[in-house]
Amino acid sequence: MHHIDIDLIEMTLDVMKYVIGRVSATEHQIGKPRKSEDLKALVGDTVTPKGVGGEYAFNLWKEHLAKTNVPVDHPRNLAFVPASPTKAAIMFDLITSASSIHGAYWMEGAGGIFCENEAMSWIVSLTGMPEGAFGVFTSGGTAANLSAIVTAREHWRENAEFKGEKGLIITSIGAHSSIKAMAKVADVDIILVDSEEHLTGAMLEETIATLTEHQRKCLFAVVATGGTTNAGIIDDLSSVADVCEAQNLWFHIDAAYGGGALVADSVRHLFKGIERADSITIDPHKWMFSPYDCGAVLYRDMELAKNAHSQQGSYLEIFKDEGAHGFNPTDYQIQLTRRVRGLPLWFSLATHGTDRYKEAVERGLELAQIAGRLIEAHPKLELVREPSLSCVLYRRIGWEPEDYTHWTYENHKKGFALVTPTKWKNGDTFETCSRFCFINPDTTERDIEMILETME
Ligand SMILES: *Cc1c(COP(=O)(O)O)cnc(C)c1O
Repeated sequence: MHHIDIDLIEMTLDVMKYVIGRVSATEHQIGKPRKSEDLKALVGDTVTPKGVGGEYAFNLWKEHLAKTNVPVDHPRNLAFVPASPTKAAIMFDLITSASSIHGAYWMEGAGGIFCENEAMSWIVSLTGMPEGAFGVFTSGGTAANLSAIVTAREHWRENAEFKGEKGLIITSIGAHSSIKAMAKVADVDIILVDSEEHLTGAMLEETIATLTEHQRKCLFAVVATGGTTNAGIIDDLSSVADVCEAQNLWFHIDAAYGGGALVADSVRHLFKGIERADSITIDPHKWMFSPYDCGAVLYRDMELAKNAHSQQGSYLEIFKDEGAHGFNPTDYQIQLTRRVRGLPLWFSLATHGTDRYKEAVERGLELAQIAGRLIEAHPKLELVREPSLSCVLYRRIGWEPEDYTHWTYENHKKGFALVTPTKWKNGDTFETCSRFCFINPDTTERDIEMILETME
């Protein structure tokens, strides 16, 4: 393994050439999936006793497999929450892999974890959480939400009165699907406030008033959203914080998508109250231009997270002694062995400076406003609601749900754009509409115009 051979050098050069081509291309194909059977027919058996050779396998990747992925950084990929990692972050993602750092304990990963923590300090500063608050990078928002829910639940159960009780949390129907999914994983009941618009303290109080005595006893946390995935709506965090404080409830804010907007002066005021959270989820792989996968969970009191997540094992004790001299990321979330996945973010921040992040996020917000104006000026299009953060929900007058689906597939098939439909709850009915989510600052006004032109 340790001598350098020509094949290895050639493979390294091929890979680097491919990577440089990929990150410097100004226009790449949007790509579309194919059936697994079709791919198998194209590439044949690749995992064999002798292997097929790196060059051959790499060619299969380039010719057949890469094209069936839909890159999230395409400027006309405006579906779900797209992404747009910086070149600096992508390059340092390669270095993260090449460095083989075990990111669980300081003892093994001091330099990498130090860099992660520099990036984390910046994220924490954006929230305005008090001294002592800190966080840790996770595989994504789902793992961050789970880590936070488990921390809150363990803290609640420390009170002998609640030992053995199944906990209950309240959130709204605007919350991300992962809140419901992770409540299931943590075996916690969940009540949804039936509104996709801003969750307020008053709505929360109303819901709490409907609980049975036993339910109220088991209620331990409230999850508000700092930028709903569907519509970019930020709950009224201050009034929700008031209720949580008065009723002694853990206040978690899921800002996986919206958290990046904390850096933008134009919308920062909408997050007022976020500094009062007990825990916050923010995904750098969404609006902080990091490659997949990189989420983050922040806590007001790190000790509570440690009580919930620190793993014990005789083979781990060495890390605790020596590692006590530093920060051990494993202690604050659900994972043991972990990639130092905050490292690419650190390098990108250090390279570009935080002002560039501000500009890039402001551009996403501006694109949503531009799209809003283009939609309003179009005779056949209407906004379903005003753009919020970088999400725009709009309807094509006269279209049925299947028209939206057909339109999405047509544009995708052509390799032109990926814009997907969604549903918006209006009173008691759900309306199917079209949705943009802007992240990539390289998306142009012309891109938006061209997409809207296909809705004639
Ligand atoms: C995307 C998203 C999540 C899930 O995050 P992953 O990184 O996909 O696991 C959770 N909450 C919100 C609000 C999101 O937008």
